[in-house]
Amino acid sequence: MEPRKDRYDKMKYNRCGKSGLLLPKISLGLWHNFGGVDTYENGKKMVLKAFDLGITHFDLANNYGPPPGSAEETFGKILAQELSGYRDEMIITSKAGYLMWPGPYGEWGARKNLISSCDQSLKRMGLDYVDIFYSHRPDPDTPLEETMMALNQIVKSGKALYAGISNYEPERSQQAFDILKSLGTPCLIHQPSYSMFNRWVEDGLLDVLEKNGVGSAVFSPLFQGLLTDKYLKGIPEDSRAAKAHGFLQTSQISEEKIEKIKALNLIAAERGQKMSQLALSWVLRDKRVTSVIIGASKEAQIEDAAGILESPELSQDQINRIEAILK
Ligand code: NDP
Repeated sequence: MEPRKDRYDKMKYNRCGKSGLLLPKISLGLWHNFGGVDTYENGKKMVLKAFDLGITHFDLANNYGPPPGSAEETFGKILAQELSGYRDEMIITSKAGYLMWPGPYGEWGARKNLISSCDQSLKRMGLDYVDIFYSHRPDPDTPLEETMMALNQIVKSGKALYAGISNYEPERSQQAFDILKSLGTPCLIHQPSYSMFNRWVEDGLLDVLEKNGVGSAVFSPLFQGLLTDKYLKGIPEDSRAAKAHGFLQTSQISEEKIEKIKALNLIAAERGQKMSQLALSWVLRDKRVTSVIIGASKEAQIEDAAGILESPELSQDQINRIEAILK
């Protein structure tokens, strides 16, 4: 089936830092629900739904699945079978740094890991290049210069168009930006976690990004699904928290958090939004956030996310009331 002709009418695109690249306010991540253990048809429907809604940015990593690598294979199959004529309308990313293959070379930040892993990801997705390649996490034991030189080489050899880093603390981010700049491959983007329940980026990282003209694509903006109305009456069977391979632990769903979500949900209702939509609007209130990377298990969740484009921005009064609840 052809993608919708009106797919660019409603989505809004933000400039990624001081670069030339525009990213959709909402991006789709394939960490959960696109693996070999999941249903291919559902994954396909979600990617096509996202693309129809103007979501041009698809976030992957070597290890997404399970099993590791299978999300990239699923995405490669969807691209080849459904979207082969649309590669230039998409931003496709991958990352290396977490455990991917056995032995001393299958994780962290050595040149050996990053370059081999990038080659594997390209094969799995059937691509000549990814748009952004990330160092997935800082490596305390590898010189930062080595990791950044590997990113530089990946870009210079044409296997990625841009370089990014993920999960780096502010100080190490600054060092990484300086090294990449000196190599002639400025860092495009940082990918940190950020949500109402996880605000570490406010403690210096967003300032460093702004100062360096680096954009941000923030992950788990719904705290893996907790910042929705889904867990208000217990743990539903089809939820991430109920899945054996889901990363959301039931221990993370405390009574205190549920009480906060109930109070936040009232503000959402006032705005004509769902809880999940309020959580996304709140993250995007900070103009240093280029894009929120959502996850989804159903097409309807992607529609929910895209629905925020029709909501007004948060007022200062609403921001203050949310702040009081989150304290
Ligand atoms: P979210 O916080 O957006 O959580 C997504 C989950 O929330 C969905 O899978 C679904 O789970 C639930 N959900 C989504 N929308 C709704 C809704 N409208 N109503 C009810 N429940 C909803 O993000 P993720 O944690 O999935 O992370 C997003 C992406 O970020 C990843 O795919 C990955 O690309 C990236 N990421 C990067 C990391 C890094 O280290 N760089 C680490 C983690 C993620 P359910 O199954 O319960 O329906």
